[in-house]
Amino acid sequence: MAAGSAIQIPTRLPLLLTHESVLLPGSTMRTSVDSPRNMQLVRSRLLKGTSLRSTIIGVIPNTSDPTSDCDDLPNLHRIGTAALAVQVVGSNWPKPHYTLLVTGLCRFQILQLLKEKPYPVAEVQQLDRLEQFTNGHKSEEELGELSEQFYKYAVQLVEMLDMSVPAVAKLRRLLDNLPREALPDILTSIIRTTNQEKLQILDAVRLEERFKMTIPLLVRQIEGLKLLQKTRKSKQDDDKRVVAIRPNRRISHGSITEDEEEEEDHDDVVMLEKKIRTSSMSEQALKVCLKEIKRLKKMPQSMPEYALTRNYLELMVELPWNKSTKDRLEIRAARIVLDNDHYAMEKLKKRVLEYLAVRQLKNNLKGPILCFVGPPGVGKTSVGRSIAKTLGREFHRIALGGACDQSDIRGHRRTYVGSMPGRIINGLKTVGVNNPVFLLDEVDKLAKSLQGDPAAALLEVLDPEQNHSFTDHYLNVAFDLSQVLFIATANTTATIPPALLDRMEVIQVPGYTQEEKIEIAHRHLIPKQLELHGLTPQQIQIPQVTTLGIITRYTREAGVRALDRKLGAICRAVAVKVAEGQHKEAKPDRAELGEGEDCKEHVTEDAKPESISDTADLALPPEMPILIDFHALKDILGPPMYDMEVSERLNQPGVAIGLAWTPLGGEIMFVEASRMEGEGQLTLTGQLGDVMKESAHLAISWLRSNARRYQLTNASGSFDLLDNTDIHLHFPAGAVTKDGPSAGVTIVTCLASLFSGRLVCSDVAMTGEITLRGLVLPVGGIKDKVLAAHRAGLKRIILPQRNEKDLEEIAAPVRQELSFVLAACLDEVLNAAFDGGFAVKASLEHLNSKL
Ligand code: ADP
Repeated sequence: MAAGSAIQIPTRLPLLLTHESVLLPGSTMRTSVDSPRNMQLVRSRLLKGTSLRSTIIGVIPNTSDPTSDCDDLPNLHRIGTAALAVQVVGSNWPKPHYTLLVTGLCRFQILQLLKEKPYPVAEVQQLDRLEQFTNGHKSEEELGELSEQFYKYAVQLVEMLDMSVPAVAKLRRLLDNLPREALPDILTSIIRTTNQEKLQILDAVRLEERFKMTIPLLVRQIEGLKLLQKTRKSKQDDDKRVVAIRPNRRISHGSITEDEEEEEDHDDVVMLEKKIRTSSMSEQALKVCLKEIKRLKKMPQSMPEYALTRNYLELMVELPWNKSTKDRLEIRAARIVLDNDHYAMEKLKKRVLEYLAVRQLKNNLKGPILCFVGPPGVGKTSVGRSIAKTLGREFHRIALGGACDQSDIRGHRRTYVGSMPGRIINGLKTVGVNNPVFLLDEVDKLAKSLQGDPAAALLEVLDPEQNHSFTDHYLNVAFDLSQVLFIATANTTATIPPALLDRMEVIQVPGYTQEEKIEIAHRHLIPKQLELHGLTPQQIQIPQVTTLGIITRYTREAGVRALDRKLGAICRAVAVKVAEGQHKEAKPDRAELGEGEDCKEHVTEDAKPESISDTADLALPPEMPILIDFHALKDILGPPMYDMEVSERLNQPGVAIGLAWTPLGGEIMFVEASRMEGEGQLTLTGQLGDVMKESAHLAISWLRSNARRYQLTNASGSFDLLDNTDIHLHFPAGAVTKDGPSAGVTIVTCLASLFSGRLVCSDVAMTGEITLRGLVLPVGGIKDKVLAAHRAGLKRIILPQRNEKDLEEIAAPVRQELSFVLAACLDEVLNAAFDGGFAVKASLEHLNSKL
C-alpha cells in the first residue's frame, strides 16, 4: 500500500470522475462506472494497458450535478487522489457498466487539463510525498502533540469495538505500525463521515490542517458509540458489534445484518406460531402446522426447505377456515337483481330462482351443481356473478379451459420444487371467505394429459357428499368446501366427461333472437359502453334500426359478445369526435346544417351527409347527439361483413341449405352437389365426420332406390343414378369439422335437385336425420337452428315431425315470421323444398307396371 511504496506517480494522469464517493489515500473503494467518459477510460486505459503505470489513474470527486456528466466536462475539482486500479469487473445488466476496485495512493493537484475526449487527461503534481512515510519520525516530531492526540483518540475508538472481530484486531495493530501521517486519511474513510467532510479532508493538503480537521470527526464518532452503548446497555455485546468502521464493515456489518435478520426472523416465526394458534383452522390442520413450525424453528434459514415450509404455514394461516360472509337471501330481491341485470333468458332465471328458494328454505347446499350450457356471449358468466350478488357472497371465476393436469385442481405435493396449491384452494385464499360462489368456467374444455385427468379431480370437488373433506395435495389436510356454491359453464355437454356431467344439473342457455338482442343492446350493452367511454346519451344516439343493422350485417352469433364489441367500436369513434368537437370552434353556417340533420328521425340509406366524418367536420357542440346511421356504421365498422342474401347461392340445381348445431350456436350450412362422368364414385369434401359421411351414403342409396318413382335420371337418362356417373358432395366452410346425422334431409334434397335439374326454394332451410326407408327422424338443437335460419333471413323451415314440441321454446315473434313444415318422411321434405312440390310420378309408374 502507500506506506511501503516509494513510487512516483506519473505527471500525466487519466481522470476518473466519481459521483457517489470520495477516495482518500490509503483506503480502498469499489465504484461503479457507467458514464461514457469513464467507460472509455476503463476500456482504453485499464483493460488495454499492460504496465503497472497504466493502472494508475486520478480519481477526482465530481462535485457537479451528475446529470450533466454526459455533456461537456464539468468544472473539475482541483485536488484528487492518484489510485491504483486493482480490479475491473464488467457487466451488461441492467445496463453496460464496470465495477472498479481502486486503492488510493496519494493526493495530486491538477495543473492543466491536456485533453477532454474521449476521457480527460491532465498534467498533475503529486502533493503527498510517499517516501516521507517510510522515514516518518521526522514529521512525527514536527507535528508532535497533534499527532499524539490523534493517535490516542484513534486507539480509544478502536478499543470500543469488538476486538474478537479479526478485522478490528488488525486495525488496532495497524494503528501502531502505520506512520502517523497516514492515519487521518485512513480513519476518515473508515468512520462515519459525509462526502462533504471527506472532501474537506482531501482538500486539506497540509498535514497539520488534516489532523486538526479529523480529530473532531473522531470525537464525534466516539461520542456516538458511547451513546449507543448507553442506550443498549442491556445488550452490551451487541453494541460492540454496531460499528461504523469501514474496513470491518463487510464483516461486522454482515454480522449485524445476519444477526438482526435472524432475530427478525425469529420474531416472525414466533408471530407465525401465534397466528397459527389463534387461527380457527381445523384440529387436524393445527396439529400439522404445529409440527411444521417446530421443524421450522430448528431449520437453518439457508435451507431451501425453510422457505417452502414457511410459505406453507403462511398459506395455512391465510386460508379462510372459518371465515364466511353472511348470506342475505331474499327471493324477491334476487328476482329483481336477476331481472335488472339480464333481459330475457326466462327459463334460466326461473331455474336459478327455484334453486335459490330451495336454499333459503333448506339452508344447506347439498343440491345439484348448476351447469349453464350455451353458446358464448349469452350471459352465463354474468348470471353467475348476479347470483353471487343476490346472495351477498364473494365471486370467483376459475377458468378451466385447457387445464390438463390434475394438480391444476388439486395442487402439487410439497415435495416438488415450485409446488403450489390447486386453483380451488388458491381461489379461497384470494376471496378470503369459505363460502364464495365459484364459477367453473368452460368445464367442457378440460383436457387430459399424462399428468392425470383434471375432470376426475373435479369430481371430488363437486360431489356434495365428499367435498366437506377435500384434500389438496399441497395442503395435505382436509378443507371443507361444502359451503362453496359451485356453478359450472360450458358450451356443449358433448365433451363434458359423463361422470362429471352426472353430478351437475344442466340448464340450457340458448342464443337470442334478433329482437332480444336489440333489447339487450339498448337496455344493457349501450348504457354500459357509454359509461365505459365517458359518453352521455346527449352525445350519441344509436337508433334501433342501427342496432338491427349491426346485428344482421356485422355479427353472426348466438350471443351478444360481438355485438358488444361493435358497440364499443362505435363509442370509441364517437368519443374521438366529441373530444375533437369540444376543442373546435363551431362554425355557424355548418352548425345550422348540423341542426337540420338532428331533426331527422330516421335516416334512409340515401341520405348521405350524416356520416360520422361529416358530423365531426361540423365541430358539433357536445349537446347535440351524434346519430349513428348506416353511413356512420359503414364509416366506423367498414363494409358489412355478412350478406342477408342467401338466394344467390341457390340459383343452380344441386344446392340446398341445411341447419347445423355447433357449440357456438346454430348455423346455416350450404350443401352443394355436382355430377360428372365416372365410375359411380362418391366424393365428399368439407371436413366431415363419420356420421355425416354415413348420411351421405344413406341419401344416395335412398335416391337410387327411389329414382324411378321420382323420375330422376343421370346424364345418360338411366335411372341408375351412379351409372357412368361420379357424384361430388361438398359442404363449404371446410375448416370446421362437421358431424352429426341432421344433414340427411339436406343431402337428399340437394341430390334430388341435382338429378331433377330443379332449383330448391331459396328461402327454405331444413334439418333432420333420415333412414334407409325414407323416414325423417328427430334431431337436437332445434331452437338454435331455427334462430340461425331466422338470422339468415330464411322463411320456411323443414323439421322432423317429432321435433314439433321443440317449437314451443321459440319466441312468438320469431315463430310468426317463419313457416314450419313438419315432415315425417322424405316425400314431404321434397314436396316442401321445391316450388310446386316434388311430385311422385305415380301415374307413369302405374302405367309402366300395367304394360
Ligand atoms: P358467456 O359467459 O355466456 O360467454 P358473458 O356472461 O361473458 O357470456 O356475457 C357477455 C356479455 O353479454 C356480458 O357483458 C353480459 O353482461 C352481456 N349479456 C349477455 N346476455 C345478457 C342479457 N340477457 N342481458 C344483459 N346482458 C347480457
